[in-house]
This record gives sequence, C-alpha cells and structure tokens, in this order.
Amino acid sequence: MDSNQQQSWRGAALCRDADPDELFVRGAEQNRAKVVCMGCPVRTECLAEALDNRIDFGIWGGMTERERRALLRRRPDVTSWAELLESAKRDYAEIS
Ligand code: SF4
Repeated sequence: MDSNQQQSWRGAALCRDADPDELFVRGAEQNRAKVVCMGCPVRTECLAEALDNRIDFGIWGGMTERERRALLRRRPDVTSWAELLESAKRDYAEIS
C-alpha cells in the first residue's frame, strides 16, 4: 500500500476525529473501543495495515493487539494481508 492509498483510507476512518486515547486502551476498555470499528467503512484497510506492519498496540480494524498476534501466528504463510483481505472483500461483495 503506498502513502496515497494510506491517506485516502485514513480520510474515511470513523475514528478520524476521535481521541487517540479511546483506541489505544487496555483491558475491558478495548471492547468499547472495538465497537467504533464495527461500522467503519475502511476496517479492512485499517486491519491490513496493522497486520502487514506488525503494529503491536491499539485497536486496528476492530481487533486488539492480542487478537492480531493470534491471527499472525495462525497464518505465518500470509505475505500481504492487504491483498488477502481485499480479495476476501471482493469475493464477499460478489456473493452478496
Ligand atoms: S477500523 Fe477502527 S481503528 Fe480502524 S480506522 Fe476504522 S474506526 Fe479507526
């Protein structure tokens, strides 16, 4: 993902104007923070960025760092989460 693509998805982020302290929280507060992501139009792009760049803190794409670490451990074969998640999103759009 180039920097232009990054800028474009960030512009559509639901949390764009949120206080970063609301997304970079720990423990039970993370469940509340994840709710913000559920309706976000760029959830896929956000999650892919965190996974591809091994970002290890905060809620990204509706997943906590712990959930992302577990996913990365389960799928060490994935070289581009951006490609994988975009492909899954396209497939889902075709069948729905
Ligand atoms: S998925 Fe969540 S953390 Fe990512 S841009 Fe959207 S609201 Fe923000």
